[in-house]
Amino acid sequence: MSVEQDIKILLVDDRKEDILSLEVILSTPNYKFEKATSGRDALRILLKEQDFAIILIDVQMPMLDGLETAQLIRESEKLRHIPIIFLTANIDRPNNVFKGYQAGAVDFMIKPVVPEIIKAKVAVFAELYRKSQELLAQKQSLSTLNMELEKRSEELIRSNKDLEKFAYVASHDMQEPLRTIISYIELIQRKINDDAQDVEKYMDFVVGASYRMRDLINGLLEYSRADREEKPFTQVNCNDVVKEVLANLNTSISENKAVVQAGTLPQITASYMQIQQLFQNLVSNAIKFKGNKEPQVSIAYKKIEGYHLFSIADNGIGIEQEYKERIFEIFKRLHPIGEYMGVGIGLAICKKIVERHKGKIWVESVPEKGSTFYFTISEAV
Ligand code: ADP
Repeated sequence: MSVEQDIKILLVDDRKEDILSLEVILSTPNYKFEKATSGRDALRILLKEQDFAIILIDVQMPMLDGLETAQLIRESEKLRHIPIIFLTANIDRPNNVFKGYQAGAVDFMIKPVVPEIIKAKVAVFAELYRKSQELLAQKQSLSTLNMELEKRSEELIRSNKDLEKFAYVASHDMQEPLRTIISYIELIQRKINDDAQDVEKYMDFVVGASYRMRDLINGLLEYSRADREEKPFTQVNCNDVVKEVLANLNTSISENKAVVQAGTLPQITASYMQIQQLFQNLVSNAIKFKGNKEPQVSIAYKKIEGYHLFSIADNGIGIEQEYKERIFEIFKRLHPIGEYMGVGIGLAICKKIVERHKGKIWVESVPEKGSTFYFTISEAV
C-alpha cells in the first residue's frame, strides 16, 4: 500500500532570498515547505508541527544560530529523529563542522548549494521518511490485528469453557432421571409376578422420570436454539405479548389465585417469539415460587437511555443474595426436585434471549418477601 503522501520540509534561513532559491531548487509536487526566518521562528513552528521529513537550516543567523537551534531540537524527544542538514558558507572553519555534528547534524552543504546535490540529498531523506511512515502504519495495523486476535482467542476460550460446563452439567443432570428409570424398571422386572400394587407405584416413578428426562432434553434444545433464531427482528407490541402470555398461563393463574397486572408497555424491535418466551418464563416463575401467599405479580416498564427496562415483581419466596447470579446458570435450581417443578433452564434461556437483544437481566430480592426480575432490551438491536 503506497499512498503518495506529502513530505514536509522546514527551511530555516534569515535571508528570505536564500529560502526562496531553496524552494525553487527543491520544488517537487509532493514537497510542502514551511519557512522560518530565525531559529526562534523555527522552534515556534516545531512546537506545533512535528511531522517534518527534514530540516534545512542556515548556520549563520543572528541571535539563535543554526547550531544552537539544532541543539534545542535534539533535546526534544518529539523532534530529535528529524534529520537536519546545515547550510553554511563557512567550510574553511572545520571547528564549525565539528560542532555541527555534535549538535546532531546529518549533513553539511556549502553555500551556494549545488542544486543537483541538494536535490539528491533531500530525495534520500524524503524516501527514508516515507519508508519509516509506511513501517509505522504497518506496525499500527499489526497491533490492531493483534488486539483483535487476542480478543477472539479470549472469546474462544470462554465459549469453550461454557461448552465444557454445559456438556458436564447436561450429562450430569440427565443421569439423575435415567438412574431413576433404570432402577425402577429393574424393580418392576423382579416384582412383575409378585405384587401388582408395587409395580403400579414403580411405574409412576418411571413415567415421572421419563417426563423429566423429556423436559430436560426439550429445555436443552430450546437453550441451544435461543441465540440462533434465524428470523429477523420485527416491531413487537409488548402489550400484545403479555396478553398472550397471560392467556397461555390461564390455568396456572386461576389454580394459584394469582393476580397479574401490567402497566402500559412499549413497542420494541425484537424477536416476537423470544420476547414472549421471556415474559412467559418470568411470569410463570413469579407464580410458581409463591410460597404460602396468593401470588401478586406486576409487570412494569421504564424508558432509560438507549434501552427499554422491564420488571416483573412478585411477592413470593424470594432468593438469597448468594444465588442472585447463579440462578441464571443452566440447570441451577435452589430447591429439591418435587418441591417445585422445573429443570432449571428457564432463566438461562431468558439470559440468552436478553443478551441476543443486547440487554442484561438481573434480580433484586428479599427472601420471603418477593423478587423483582429486571431486564433491558437495547433500542439499537
Ligand atoms: P426452574 O423454574 O425450571 O427451576 P429457572 O431457570 O426458571 O428454572 O429458575 C432457576 C431457579 O431460580 C429456580 O429453581 C428458583 O430456585 C429460582 N427462581 C426463579 N424465579 C424465581 C422467583 N420468581 N422467585 C424465587 N425464586 C426464583
